[in-house]
Amino acid sequence: MFQRVLIANRGEIALRIIRACKELDIQTVCVYSTADKDAPYLNFADEKICIGPGPSKDSYLNIARIISAAEITDVDAIHPGYGFLSERADFSEICRECKIEFIGPSPEAMFKLGDKIQAKRYARAAKVPVFAGTEGEIEELDEAVKVAAEIGYPVIIKASAGGGGRGMRICRNEASLRANVSKAQQEALAAFGNGGVFVEKFLEHARHIEIQTIGDKHGNAIHLYERDCSMQRRHQKIIEEAPAPLVERKKIEKVCQAAAKLIKSADYSGAATVEFLMDQEQNFYMLEVNTRVQVEHPITEAITGVDIVKMSIQVAAGEEIPYKQKDIQIQGHAIECRINAEDHTKDFRPSAGLIETYRAPGGLGIRIDTHVSAGYRVPPNYDSMIGKLIVHADTREAAITRALRALNEYEVGPIKTTIPLHAQLMQNSDFKTGGIDIHYLERLLKD
Ligand code: ADP
Repeated sequence: MFQRVLIANRGEIALRIIRACKELDIQTVCVYSTADKDAPYLNFADEKICIGPGPSKDSYLNIARIISAAEITDVDAIHPGYGFLSERADFSEICRECKIEFIGPSPEAMFKLGDKIQAKRYARAAKVPVFAGTEGEIEELDEAVKVAAEIGYPVIIKASAGGGGRGMRICRNEASLRANVSKAQQEALAAFGNGGVFVEKFLEHARHIEIQTIGDKHGNAIHLYERDCSMQRRHQKIIEEAPAPLVERKKIEKVCQAAAKLIKSADYSGAATVEFLMDQEQNFYMLEVNTRVQVEHPITEAITGVDIVKMSIQVAAGEEIPYKQKDIQIQGHAIECRINAEDHTKDFRPSAGLIETYRAPGGLGIRIDTHVSAGYRVPPNYDSMIGKLIVHADTREAAITRALRALNEYEVGPIKTTIPLHAQLMQNSDFKTGGIDIHYLERLLKD
C-alpha cells in the first residue's frame, strides 16, 4: 500500500480523499492555491503545500507545479479527485514517467474510454447500447447527411473530446446539419484541441441514468448499480438518487452488467461511470464514460456499503477488488442534494463570501460531505458547490421525507445557497412520483 499520497484537488473532495487515506493508514499531502490558504480542511492533511495563486491554470491545473510538489514531498501516488486534472491522459502519463502512481486509469485506458468516439466503439463491442449515428468522426459532410437521413432528425453534433456540456449542436433538418458541422469542428478544435465531431440521434425526453463501475489491475471489474441524475440545470446535476425510480430492474441490470464488461474490455483500473440517457420506453443509450470518481459517488456508497474512494486507492496500489459481483446488493434508497453557494432566485448567481452561520443537520441516515463551516470564506475562484447532503432510508418515500427534514435543519448564511430550492423540490409532486426528465427543472424554473 502507498505510504504517502498527494491530493491534487481542493474542497470537499480533497477532504473526502484525506479521510479515505487516514482509514488506510496513508499519509496525505494536500496542495492548495493562495485563494484556499486558510481553508480548515488543509489541516487534516499531514502536510500542505502551496502551488500558486487562485486562478486554476496557475495552481490546480498546473501539472509542472503539482509534479514538483509531489517530488518535494516524496509521495508515491497522486489522487486527482474530480474535475481539474482528473481526466487528463497526459497527466496520468507524466505521473507514470515520474514513477508516481496516478490513482485512476492508465493513460491507455483513459484514451480508450475518455474519448467519446473511441468509447462508443468499445461500447458496441461490449454490447453496451449506444445511440445510432456516425461510426467515427465526420470526414465528409455528405456522409453525415446520409447517416442523419437514416436515423432521422433531430440529431446532435458532438465533439469527441467534449466535456461540460459544451460544443453541442442540435439539428432538426438537413439544412441545419449542413450549416453546423464545420462550425462545430472549428469550435471543438479551439475549445478542446481536437476538432473531431460526430453525429448521433437526439433524444427529446430523456432521463439521465449512470452506472458506477470499478476495475482493478488483475482484469476484474464490477458494477455498483445505477444513479438517476435527471434533475439538472444547464447540464449540471442538482439532485441524484440511487437506485433509479420506476425502472424495470431486469432491464437496468443488463445495462449494469454490460457497463462492467465495457470497462473490463478496456483493461480499466479505478472507478468509472458509464453515463446513459434512457427514453420513455426505457431503452438505454450510452452518452460517455467518466474516467474518475464522481461528485455523486456517496449515494452509491450508501446503498451498497462500498467505500468507492478507498477502493480506488486500493486498486491503484495493485490490490484486487475485494468483492465479487454477487456480494453487491442494493439496500434502501439514497438521495444527494448538491449545496451550491448560489442564489437560485437570481438565475443561480454565485454567492461567494464569508459564512457566518453554519448549522448542519444530523440524525439517522444523514451524511454531509463538506469542507466548510462557520468562519469559512467561499472564494470566488472555483465551482460554487460547497457541500453535499446525502440521505439514506429504507424506501424512496422515506428518503425524500428525511431529506426535507434535514434541509429544514440546515442553516448556512448570510451567503445564499441552494438549500431552499432543494426543500422546494423535495415537496414537488412530479419529483415525488419519480421519472422526471432532464429538462424538467429548467421548465419548472421558467414557470
Ligand atoms: P459532456 O461531456 O459535454 O457532458 P455528454 O455527452 O455527457 O457531454 O452530454 C451532456 C448532456 O447533453 C446530456 O446530459 C444531455 O442532456 C445532452 N445530450 C447529449 N447527447 C444527447 C443526445 N444524443 N440526445 C439528447 N440529449 C443529449
